[in-house]
Amino acid sequence: MNDVSPIMKRGIAIVWLLLVPAGMWYTYQSYPPPSSVQWLDILAFLLLTSIVASMPIVINEMFIFLIQWVTLVVFLKFGLFFEMVFAQISVVVLLVRLRVLRKGEWFRLPLNLIMFFLVSFVSGSFYYLIGGQLAPSLSTNPSALLLAAFYAVLNYLLNQVIVSFNLYFIYKSKEPIFSKDLFVETVTTIVTFPIGFVLYILYHQVGLLAILFVGIPFVSLSIIFNLYYSSQKMNEYLQKAAEIGHQMAERLNMDDVVNVFIQRLSEMLPVDYAYILDVQGDDLVVDRMVEQGQVVAAQIPPLKKNEGISGMVWAENKAYLYSSRKEWRKFAKSYIPDDAESLLCVPIVRSKKIIGVLVLASKRKRAYEKYQLNMVDILCSYFAVAIENAKHYERTKIQSERCPLTKLYNFRYFEGLLTREFEKLTRFERKSLSLIILDIDHFKSINDTYGHQSGNEILIDIAGRINKLVANRGTVARYGGEEFVVLLPDVVKQDAYQVAEHIRESIANWPFTLMQALDQDNKKIQVKITVSIGVATAPEDAEDALALVRHADRALYVGAKRAGRNRVAEYSSN
Ligand code: GH3
Ligand code: MG
Ligand code: MG
Repeated sequence: MNDVSPIMKRGIAIVWLLLVPAGMWYTYQSYPPPSSVQWLDILAFLLLTSIVASMPIVINEMFIFLIQWVTLVVFLKFGLFFEMVFAQISVVVLLVRLRVLRKGEWFRLPLNLIMFFLVSFVSGSFYYLIGGQLAPSLSTNPSALLLAAFYAVLNYLLNQVIVSFNLYFIYKSKEPIFSKDLFVETVTTIVTFPIGFVLYILYHQVGLLAILFVGIPFVSLSIIFNLYYSSQKMNEYLQKAAEIGHQMAERLNMDDVVNVFIQRLSEMLPVDYAYILDVQGDDLVVDRMVEQGQVVAAQIPPLKKNEGISGMVWAENKAYLYSSRKEWRKFAKSYIPDDAESLLCVPIVRSKKIIGVLVLASKRKRAYEKYQLNMVDILCSYFAVAIENAKHYERTKIQSERCPLTKLYNFRYFEGLLTREFEKLTRFERKSLSLIILDIDHFKSINDTYGHQSGNEILIDIAGRINKLVANRGTVARYGGEEFVVLLPDVVKQDAYQVAEHIRESIANWPFTLMQALDQDNKKIQVKITVSIGVATAPEDAEDALALVRHADRALYVGAKRAGRNRVAEYSSN
């Protein structure tokens, strides 16, 4: 709903002040209540009114206020003045129950009081005008029953007219008047009128007991109805939660999982700020922050157990729900913004171990409800499983693609990449594809002299040197034992040759220091290493991926090794 201006709010309060007290006094004078009122009966009806008003029926987030059948009885039995007072009281009870009278919304009280006063006054005086009587005998007099029914319908219709008037002129709502909600409310209200007549007639015969006979079933039904709807709603939420769980499980990338999680949470709940904190050893680190829909870089010092609200959630493995800032301000540390009011803080648990904490915040007070906390809790366990799976997947992927010694891509990955790159070349998405193959010279004797472990150190060092030189121009992989390959998409032969030459120099010109082996003087040994390199480029040197490898290999053995090693050779077909 649109905001109502402060002037309008004050105007509403003034209208109430001028209209309602005077109007009630006038009503009391014009339509005096019966002289012989039983105060105990009035009190019993007041109790019934308050109970019924405090139990609106909820259908699809819409509150249906089913008080008319009670006020109808009060009107027929005790007259317009009492009906008016009861209607006013029921409004107060309802608004307090719905907790709508927050700061800035107080004007709803005078607004609704005015509205109910007008409805009471107009429909009541109209009833008397057309010949309606106080305390008519409904069971014996059909025309009295007709008048009473007319009053009830008029009362309801006026109510709807004034509600629409308010929506249009005060809240400036754009919703259509004849909505499905109106239909549902009308039907429910009309269905309750007979209950009012039954109560009226029964009250004549059995007195106060009638309130129990009619009130207890009505209140019980309201409770059952609301329970039914809240369980339906919970059901819907659970279904949604399961769907989100599936969606997260489908993602294999950790970032994707986190994104789906936060995005879907923000769709279901009012979320202005979201934080995911990660347990890392003794620290709780803010891993992800989304503020007003934007991912923000986290620069927050890690929290310890019991530090701040998230530290508390971590230490106690307990979820917390706060409705306003003043409830949590004293526990908070650093990162939650000043304008946040409601908080939802839930531990993220996997195999009984807390792996993180989720914090959701809204600028609204009382933005979250208990059942939403339960749902977020379920979602957090789906999230924990999904994130663990994604982590596992990423780890396995690295293991299957990389060589554990040098951390370079392995032969399997290289094969796949070569095939993909060659396909791009044949689709003319690439102009050329160069391949460098490198083999260490006399590596066997290095192993024999310094040991296999030292040989490994050299392999790691060489991998590092090649990687640094190639950088993002291509992909470096370990091809076999002491052979490496570099695949350079969109690099012509001449440039590939240059890259190879730089690699050769970077190895030949700087000796390798062995960390494990010592010489006689207990000094670290320096070893000079050279490599032989072959280069081939598609499309000129090869028509398929296998030929490219074969030809680069041939350049390596024929052009470089046989020609004396420590050199770069490019493939030539003759
Ligand atoms: P050249 O290539 O110059 O002809 O001589 P070479 O001695 O390097 O001969 P070759 O390439 O055939 O030898 C490969 C040697 O590399 C054999 C093996 O001992 C060594 N080697 C292969 N893989 C590894 C490894 O993972 N670690 C160590 N330390 N050595 C390896
Ligand atoms: Mg070799
Ligand atoms: Mg070799």
